[in-house]
Amino acid sequence: MEYFDQFLIQFSGLSTGNHQYEFHVNDTFFKNLENGLIQKGDIEVKVLLDKKPTLMTFDIEFEGKVEVECDRCASLSDMPVQGEHRLLVQLGDSYVEEDDLIVIPKTDYQFNLYQHIYDCIALALPLRIVPCEITLDKSHCDQTVIARLEAIHQEQIITAQETVDPRWDKLRSLGKDKI
Ligand SMILES: [Zn+2]
Repeated sequence: MEYFDQFLIQFSGLSTGNHQYEFHVNDTFFKNLENGLIQKGDIEVKVLLDKKPTLMTFDIEFEGKVEVECDRCASLSDMPVQGEHRLLVQLGDSYVEEDDLIVIPKTDYQFNLYQHIYDCIALALPLRIVPCEITLDKSHCDQTVIARLEAIHQEQIITAQETVDPRWDKLRSLGKDKI
């Protein structure tokens, strides 16, 4: 059995109406994904399926934590993550994916939710991840790296001012005259 088989919904044999599923997303989940931005996590996922003859509505709810890398100092820390998402899967002629609506061939009998669960979790993360700013706890950040970054930033400001401000050249030439 492939790891992601546990996220398969065998819908063809299901009665119409509501069905509930629970999944546990952990480190192995993220390790098995190729090109995943998240490496580690621990998340409970609840899925409510409302099945109609040609349309399935999946309400995905999740709550837990993921390990994130700080965009400022690259230190690793856990960040709480939660959210909910609705996905519509329609039986049609051929495969079409459009935002939160997926059309799958009506000959299909199963549907794998793992990629959508991953997308929901990844989309719930902020674009810029700086845990110290989010939690207002500076201990999340690697202070040595932050100090170094700030020093480089200051140097860049000074260099930029020197190159754009012609008065610096004037001052330099004045200085040279005196020597
Ligand atoms: Zn940081």
